[in-house]
Amino acid sequence: EPFDLKELIHEVIEELEQKAAKRDVLIRFFYDKEKIYKTIADKDKIFRVCQNLISNAIKYNNDGGEVEVHLKTHKNHILVEVKDNGKGIPPEDLKRIFERFYRVEKSRSREGGGTGLGLAIVKHILEGHKSKISVSSTLGKGSIFSFELPWEKAPKKEEIKTSI
Ligand code: ATP
Ligand code: MG
Repeated sequence: EPFDLKELIHEVIEELEQKAAKRDVLIRFFYDKEKIYKTIADKDKIFRVCQNLISNAIKYNNDGGEVEVHLKTHKNHILVEVKDNGKGIPPEDLKRIFERFYRVEKSRSREGGGTGLGLAIVKHILEGHKSKISVSSTLGKGSIFSFELPWEKAPKKEEIKTSI
């Protein structure tokens, strides 16, 4: 079932806006207005992926922090990036955050709560789409989580003409 990733992410952001507002966190969404970000994937599952990543970016941010979601295209792929300027993740924990129930330091977790399943689900869903989750993080600066999905480009106008 093809769908537009830009519209799906707008829905996710809309759903999480309350949660962000409570912490005075601003969510900014960047994409090219001229482009259609059509992909073929399990829409409900990709909704969960985006929901988990954006909700983490809010939860592990500082009050008054910012979350940026970027859609970029290259060749036949759409790249989704979720950035926060929160506390970041220590390098020794970075490899383990995708394990079930793994949470960085319990003291930090007190505030937000959670089960430590979100990223394990994200990883599992993306693997099922032949994709993978990437992360880079700097302590005290923030984190960037990203993944790719196939981009179903609209055919160019000339191509439409010649194929009729
Ligand atoms: P759940 O998502 O099940 O409610 P959770 O958020 O603790 O609980 P995950 O989403 O799997 O679980 O994240 C695992 C751990 O990785 C978190 O507990 C947190 O310590 C760390 N983490 C995840 N995202 C970020 C982020 N954007 N910034 C800093 N730490 C993060
Ligand atoms: Mg989570």
